[in-house]
Amino acid sequence: MKFNETLANLTSYEAGKPIELVVREYGIEAKNVIKIASNENPYGCSPKVVEAIKNEAHKMSLYPDDSMYELKGALAKKYSVGSENIIIGSGSDQVIEFSLFAKTNFSNKILMAKTTFAMYEIYGNRTNTTVLKTASHEHNIKEFLDIYKTNKDIAVIFLCLPNNPLGECLDKDEVFEFLKDISKDTLVVVDGAYQEFAGFKDKSKRIDPKELIETFPNAIYLGTFSKAYGLGGMRVGYGVGDKEVIKALHKLRSPFNITTLSLKAAIEALKDEEFVQKSVVKNFEEMAKYEEFAKKLDMEFIPSYTNFITCKLKKDSSLICEELMKNGIIIRNLKSYGLNAVRITIGTKEQNLKLFKVFEDIYRG
Ligand SMILES: *Cc1c(COP(=O)(O)O)cnc(C)c1O
Repeated sequence: MKFNETLANLTSYEAGKPIELVVREYGIEAKNVIKIASNENPYGCSPKVVEAIKNEAHKMSLYPDDSMYELKGALAKKYSVGSENIIIGSGSDQVIEFSLFAKTNFSNKILMAKTTFAMYEIYGNRTNTTVLKTASHEHNIKEFLDIYKTNKDIAVIFLCLPNNPLGECLDKDEVFEFLKDISKDTLVVVDGAYQEFAGFKDKSKRIDPKELIETFPNAIYLGTFSKAYGLGGMRVGYGVGDKEVIKALHKLRSPFNITTLSLKAAIEALKDEEFVQKSVVKNFEEMAKYEEFAKKLDMEFIPSYTNFITCKLKKDSSLICEELMKNGIIIRNLKSYGLNAVRITIGTKEQNLKLFKVFEDIYRG
């Protein structure tokens, strides 16, 4: 069968390995598998969300409120913007997709860091846009500017703040300085998937969506419930932007793009910011142990503003990941990014202790 020609050049996102796979392949019981590979919240989600979902499970036969009135209202309040400044996506992934489809076509370009969230390029390839990347793996704002100035038709720029899968984060001031040099016709996507973590660790990294879009109406801020809020399985993300941008993105959104229960979960999650705060505090307490661990094993690591840590290895990362998996521990191999490195999600105290022990045995052995 012949397919759309662009399909030939497309690759799919390599998702983190699921617990089910380790159960099937290595015969380890699901309860003994530790998955610290996809930057999910190891403490789960707010108990208030669980309670609400139990109480409202019967509503799954009904389509959700497609205006998403309550969720948009709650986000608008959180960020002191209007509901017309918000779009909800099936994960912020979907808002990335909308942003690209709204701006790109076969002749223009998009710009991103060399090693950043893979979905930017994957969706970019779907519109056959040319993907430009900085020479440095990590975000280097000077390189972004140089490339921007020497290429006329860059339609979308992605800034991942902090960056997945490396963990570094540009300062807010650098980002705002950079934005002054960008044409009002270039859409700048500020992906804040880990902003809850970065903003806690260092105030100078904190991006206020309202300030961002009011100063630069060509910027859109993306947030998600999948990471700090612990709702990865519910698939809810959002974009905060100028109402003209949001209106354009809405044309690409299909009705009912998130589920009735996802909508409920997100609304309830926003009522329990204390849960998020506690998760973030514990994250950095445990992160400190990872830094000690990396030093002890003489592994280079990137100081992280997220809920994961990326370590460069002296042994083959594929081998290490494979051996860990045999022991029921799933982490993320960064080989496909051209790095002999691993990205480990900061787990609970118990999960981390187990990882330290097994990892050390394998790494030294
Ligand atoms: C996890 C992640 C997202 C989006 O996740 P969703 O589950 O689709 O909301 C977006 N950007 C980055 C950098 C991420 O790590």
